[in-house]
Amino acid sequence: MSLLDQVVRLSLPVIPKPIIWAIAKRYVAGSELPAALERIRAIRKEGFGTILDVLGEGVVDAGEAAAALAEYELALSELPEVDPTTTVSVKPTHLGATNDQAACVRMLSQLCSRAADQGRRVRLEMEGSETIDVTLGVFREVRASHANLGCVLQSRLFRTAGDAAALLSEFDSLDVRLVKGIYLEPKEIAWTEPAAISRSYVELAAQLLEGGARVGFATHDSDVADACIEVARKSDLVVGDPWGRKYEFQLLMGVRQGEAERLRNAGHAVRIYVPYGRDWHAYTQRRLARNPEIARHVLRALFLRK
Ligand SMILES: Cc1cc2nc3c(=O)[nH]c(=O)nc-3n(C[C@H](O)[C@H](O)[C@H](O)COP(=O)(O)OP(=O)(O)OC[C@H]3O[C@@H](n4cnc5c(N)ncnc54)[C@H](O)[C@@H]3O)c2cc1C
Repeated sequence: MSLLDQVVRLSLPVIPKPIIWAIAKRYVAGSELPAALERIRAIRKEGFGTILDVLGEGVVDAGEAAAALAEYELALSELPEVDPTTTVSVKPTHLGATNDQAACVRMLSQLCSRAADQGRRVRLEMEGSETIDVTLGVFREVRASHANLGCVLQSRLFRTAGDAAALLSEFDSLDVRLVKGIYLEPKEIAWTEPAAISRSYVELAAQLLEGGARVGFATHDSDVADACIEVARKSDLVVGDPWGRKYEFQLLMGVRQGEAERLRNAGHAVRIYVPYGRDWHAYTQRRLARNPEIARHVLRALFLRK
């Protein structure tokens, strides 16, 4: 870890909340649902789709997990008025997956049923490597009866090609968000060099598209995005209405808006991820502490508008 990273990590607990908010507000819509709905309306007007996420993770208390579900249900009750196409994204540990897997399965099933009534997709996110088996366990159980549930796979991990192969053989019309992976993982289980992580990403893109999956390319890396478009082109998937295709792009709100516009203007479907919630402060601190690279991204984004 570089000296700058160490300085960032050590100073986090003493950075005043308003300064953390100054960093966070670019990436977080607000602490309450109305702020997120307002962002979604604005983003839709620009010709992008959206993904709604309620911030929260690492929940071990049953009441807190139930409160997370209630917040998602509140969002689902408001979304039809705002955007029928918004998808919702949820972290397994926000619904207490590592604490009570069976309860997480019940809550996620309830969320998927409610979303399915509105014709909406739900995405189960992927967290650190220690949670993957639980997450895939929850995914398999809920996906067996809820076809509107998708998962996330991380290209930095050695195990992912095997996980992808297994999931493709188990489920028709698998829906996968492909990411590099935000969690820094040890070299025993993951590629650590950017070039290897990107190479793995494009190989997984080919494996998933050729296997018949619907893929959300969640990346801000233009070279990787272009390589994925080439993969889709080779499979004759770059045809017709962008929103009817087997792939789309997904980017975080506030990150590389120019890249989102480039992809949209080239005729691809692009969704923007809109997180909100009372957990914004802890979320931002955890992200910065876990992966100080984000702090470098933030500094770059603040001073060099890309
Ligand atoms: C919609 C969406 C959902 C995601 N869900 C998950 C998930 O469930 N699990 C998971 O592990 N990871 C998730 N991620 C994060 C992902 O794994 C990557 O860590 C992240 O997208 C950065 O990788 P990249 O592909 O953009 O490439 P990079 O090479 O890291 O970045 C490419 C360019 O984008 C800029 N950039 C990237 N991220 C940021 C940022 N946060 N702020 C400012 N600039 C930035 C970089 O400076 C660089 O110029 C998600 C990402 C997106 C977009």
